[in-house]
Amino acid sequence: ESLLSIRGLSAAVEEKTILHNVDFDVPRGEVHVLMGPNGAGKTTLGHVAMGNPAYEVTGGTITFDGQDITELSCDKRSRAGLFLSFQAPVEIPGVPLSSFLRATIEGRAGMEMKNKEFRRKIKELAAELNMDHAWLDRELGVGFSGGEKKKVEMLQLLLLQPKLAILDETDSGLDVDALSVVSKGMDAYRERCDGTLLIITHNTRILEHLDVDHVHVMVRGRMAAEGDASLIDQIDANGFEQFGHTADAAD
Ligand code: ADP
Ligand code: MG
Ligand code: MG
Repeated sequence: ESLLSIRGLSAAVEEKTILHNVDFDVPRGEVHVLMGPNGAGKTTLGHVAMGNPAYEVTGGTITFDGQDITELSCDKRSRAGLFLSFQAPVEIPGVPLSSFLRATIEGRAGMEMKNKEFRRKIKELAAELNMDHAWLDRELGVGFSGGEKKKVEMLQLLLLQPKLAILDETDSGLDVDALSVVSKGMDAYRERCDGTLLIITHNTRILEHLDVDHVHVMVRGRMAAEGDASLIDQIDANGFEQFGHTADAAD
């Protein structure tokens, strides 16, 4: 059964069509990977699935957990159990990380917590991710390294326990330590809530120890191929040219 089902999706940003008639399915409980060269439209697909209003859906439907969410706001999609990690996480000067995390669970069914309980919970998760407690009182994103931002995303993921987590380019610019935290976060998410994962990447390093069920390949805004995990090795060996990608068509 599909948790996320995308049919005939076309989408534009600033009048320019980026996604062309995309079909995409992620069944419940599986680990999927979306790959493709830079500029293919992978990040766009994540944002359109999440309902980022900067992108205009010009055709098709997005169904999540049995509900047509094509017209839903980002906030409603989030409450329905969809999670997107951002390639460039937000910086909000003056807002401590702990307040930001508190706000993300505010008013969510089943997530009511007293402040004390909330502090204990996020401290637990921070420890699990090798994050210094002091971070929780630091301003959100300000002066955080790329790796630190990724740790914050993993903390958010484990706190929210969404039904589907779309993780965009979590491997780019991460040192070995941060990479292991992201892997740990993904594993904990899978184990604790039988989470469904869609990992968007053009780099296969983070996938090495993951049990990948299915791989989707996007080239120039279109789905170009899909298959089992063996596609990853095929891409490592031969790149994206085999799917009709040429270097000068990348952007
Ligand atoms: P990928 O994640 O596969 O590298 P993106 O989805 O980021 O690809 O980009 C796909 C195409 O859409 C690129 O040509 C990019 O320049 C364009 N694009 C994406 N977001 C925007 C935006 N906000 N404004 C203008 N063009 C955009
Ligand atoms: Mg890119
Ligand atoms: Mg991208």
